Amino acid sequence: GQPRRIAVQIFPYAKGRRLLLTRDVTALQLAEAMRRDFVANVSHEIRSPLTVIAGFIETLQTLPLDEAQRQHYLGLMAQQAQRMQALVDDLLTLSRLEGSPAPDASHWVAVSALVEEAAAHARALADVLHGGGQTIEVQRGPEVEVAGHAGELASALGNLASNAVRYTPADGHITVGWTVLPDETVDIWVRDDGPGIAPEHLPRLTERFYRVDRSRSRDTGGTGLGLAIVKHVAQRHGGELLIDSTVGKGSTFRLRLPPARVMVLSSPDGARAS
Ligand code: ADP
Repeated sequence: GQPRRIAVQIFPYAKGRRLLLTRDVTALQLAEAMRRDFVANVSHEIRSPLTVIAGFIETLQTLPLDEAQRQHYLGLMAQQAQRMQALVDDLLTLSRLEGSPAPDASHWVAVSALVEEAAAHARALADVLHGGGQTIEVQRGPEVEVAGHAGELASALGNLASNAVRYTPADGHITVGWTVLPDETVDIWVRDDGPGIAPEHLPRLTERFYRVDRSRSRDTGGTGLGLAIVKHVAQRHGGELLIDSTVGKGSTFRLRLPPARVMVLSSPDGARAS
């Protein structure tokens, strides 16, 4: 395993006598190193769009440009500003998730509504990025509800759906669906037939700012925080994020959530069992 780091403090407490205090600071130092890494990463991610924007401002100030050229540069600046906005939004989401207690488990959320919303989100994004060339299907499971926070679950699935759209080519196929397992846990999944992810990347995929291909992620508007957010949401709901992927075949991302309850459809008088 890792070498352990021990801090030693020596207190002379009487003539010729010393008290030796040892403390295992391995975890503390690791946490500190991770924090430093994170701050360095955030700074870098903010600095690069800022550098681009500053460069274009200088261009606009110094070069005699016609209106079309001006619009071109302004468009590029707007793109970079959007990138920074997405980054700051995701950072705020992460810090909110980390700083707040787990969501109230007595709220029930219909899985079909979550899946339909994710599919609609995917279709809208696919229209913009691929001109509607991708097919996006829903594969329904039994009508169930899961305990948790509708907004967090929707944003987790939205992240998975938008990754599928962004990393899958324009003629690709994406399916969003859900399955109730024999022990009543629920898998809500997003499957694509995109490029897939090599096994060596899988363990690190949910780390903040970890990307298989940095430039590709940026081109498609990625902040590098999406899967970190999804993993957080899964864990806060007592679940996990599972990733299956084969290079050249595609990927399946599953949000595995604790046992669902079967939805009881409203009876004619509107009463509803719980
Ligand atoms: P990003 O903003 O870069 O998409 P994420 O945390 O959402 O950040 O994803 C991390 C990395 O995982 C991505 O940069 C990409 O390399 C890889 N990835 C995520 N989803 C997929 C997918 N559906 N197909 C292929 N690669 C993916």
